[in-house]
Amino acid sequence: MGIYTYSNCFRFMNFANSGHNFFKMKAAILKKYNEFSVDEKAIPTMSDDEVLVKVQFASICGSDQHLYKGDFHPRTKLPFTPGHEFAGVIEKTGNHVSGYKVGDKVAVDPIIWCGECDACKNEHYPACEKLRLIGIDQDGGFAEYVSVPPSMLYKVPENVSHEHAALVEVYGIGFHACKRAKVKSGDRIAIFGGGKVGQCVMQAARTKTKGQLFVVDIVEGRLDMIRKSYPDVRTINARKEDPVQVIKNETNGHGVDIAFEVVGHAETIPNRVNPVRGCVQSIRGGGVVCVLGLGDEPIPIVYKELIWKEAQIIASRVSHGEFAEAIEQLSKGNLKPDALITAIMPVDQIQDAFHLLEQQPDKYLKILLDLN
Ligand SMILES: [Zn+2]
Ligand SMILES: [Zn+2]
Repeated sequence: MGIYTYSNCFRFMNFANSGHNFFKMKAAILKKYNEFSVDEKAIPTMSDDEVLVKVQFASICGSDQHLYKGDFHPRTKLPFTPGHEFAGVIEKTGNHVSGYKVGDKVAVDPIIWCGECDACKNEHYPACEKLRLIGIDQDGGFAEYVSVPPSMLYKVPENVSHEHAALVEVYGIGFHACKRAKVKSGDRIAIFGGGKVGQCVMQAARTKTKGQLFVVDIVEGRLDMIRKSYPDVRTINARKEDPVQVIKNETNGHGVDIAFEVVGHAETIPNRVNPVRGCVQSIRGGGVVCVLGLGDEPIPIVYKELIWKEAQIIASRVSHGEFAEAIEQLSKGNLKPDALITAIMPVDQIQDAFHLLEQQPDKYLKILLDLN
């Protein structure tokens, strides 16, 4: 480990029996599935080409909830520190780093692509065959410090709070999906799935079109949150109303230009088609269905419904450069991050945070972990 400038942020530990001094940090460590412990561990080493970021806030993602339960096994190797949605302040810069200085406020893009596979050669980085993420494939931001190359950083202006900066990654997913689906002014949009990512797609889409916007979910609490923050969005509880019928009726029989599928599982509701087929049925002729929900099971669609509309189904994965757009829109006040943040808890309470997200999805959407 390099020599760090002493600051009161670092805790100086003296290991008498080894005769060495180590700098330690606080981190949430998944030692076995379904069980976090908040412990001290070594501050990550940093090369001359990297910066050390002092994490301020980290946001818990749906992927983290899967990872916590062991759904990503063996991709995640225990013990492990998750966290791919986080932002902070530069604590130290490597000798070869230029363009960044100590104290800069930054959001960290967690994606690492290989640059060599066919997808990367075609500049289709989110589809990289060897795609890796900080916080999923290697230790992440549920810790006080992370070291990264400056190519993974985006500067955050002063008028964007540390809390809001922690949401830049998930907003990036929303903006990337809008880019994939080519959302433009005037478009009418339906979003099947009003969870964390669905609401980010909704907010991102709202910066681009004032056209009709529908959000479909079955958790009334989520739809409530949307109605409070975006009263112009038509929310549909698929247990109470047939989303396809509502969308058809309220667009004078035309359907929407684009439908996003952000549900990600094959569970069906009685008398309703599955969300992907619902998307296909909800779009106009020549419309686009964009799928983001990471389902493991096959979900049937009827090709004739797609072919008659000469429609497209496209996919969207992670993000690529949309951090800049998310930061700009946050800075301009065109997004409503506080509508997503339902709680901020100290990292020491990470176990409680995961329980709340699991057990009360009607009340808790985004929980931020405070690492200060
Ligand atoms: Zn995420
Ligand atoms: Zn690649």
